[in-house]
Amino acid sequence: MKNACQNSAFPPASMPSVLASPARIKFWGTRGSIAVPGSGTLRFGGNTTCVEVRADGEMIVLDAGSGIRPLGVALDNEFGTQPIKLSLLITHAHWDHIQGLPFFRPAYNGKNEIRILGFDGAGAGFKEIMAEPMRAPFFPIAMRELSGKIDISRLSEMTFSLGKVQVHAIFVNHPGVCAGYRLLTSAGSIAFLPDHEPYEFFLHSARGNKMSPEQAKKTAADGHEALVQFLHGSDILILDAQYTDEEYQRHIGWGHASVSSAVALALDAEVHRLLLFHHDPGHDDQMASTDCSAFAAGNIVPKFLPRCLVV
Ligand SMILES: [Zn+2]
Ligand SMILES: [Zn+2]
Repeated sequence: MKNACQNSAFPPASMPSVLASPARIKFWGTRGSIAVPGSGTLRFGGNTTCVEVRADGEMIVLDAGSGIRPLGVALDNEFGTQPIKLSLLITHAHWDHIQGLPFFRPAYNGKNEIRILGFDGAGAGFKEIMAEPMRAPFFPIAMRELSGKIDISRLSEMTFSLGKVQVHAIFVNHPGVCAGYRLLTSAGSIAFLPDHEPYEFFLHSARGNKMSPEQAKKTAADGHEALVQFLHGSDILILDAQYTDEEYQRHIGWGHASVSSAVALALDAEVHRLLLFHHDPGHDDQMASTDCSAFAAGNIVPKFLPRCLVV
């Protein structure tokens, strides 16, 4: 995609490209909820969530929305007969974050090693979450029938390593169980929170209904503070900014953020660069690209804007 923060030059095919590559991020799917291909989404793309990170000899894929299909095609072309080794980190089980996996070509080749990691969901184990969408009658090929070396790992720790990349996890404010990740690479840290609603407006909590208003307020404040600490000083924050502020008023409790609340969180956490992500399927390129300038017109945090990008 043209808008990706990426190094476009691949090394020659005979080289171990992941080891040779400088650190990079490439966006293969930036859309929330459902894929929206068409002339209105050519710039920011119509595919759902999928981000590729290469750093410290590791290839880490963040979520398996429909954007993972073109990633798979590109990896096949890049690696040819060489094995592809990657880790796929899943934030949560909503369709827009897993629906592309059955169409990820490297999973169908025995030379490739794919480790899939994530947390158990609400009422479903992680292995079940990943296998269920590929079960009949939903899909003709079962997960166990994939030819690639697929290892599905249920996460139980909030800190773990993928090679030299240390990963921190946190549960965010979204319906069900949803994780955010922070990757600590030698080139800087990348935080990935594709789906998150600001705690101050709505609390997604299994205990929420049983709380008094005071307890809910404290839980929300504690959640926000923990998230600010988790994100603090990140070099890059890829963050849910699905709605305009006006739209958000009609979608409180849907699990997503507005542009201004995304910027407010980034400011609280003193991140270096905020990337607005998980665009609403109703937003075309023009609307997505004017999100920042519309925010500037509000004159709330004008100094921040040069480092605030739509991806
Ligand atoms: Zn989503
Ligand atoms: Zn979600």
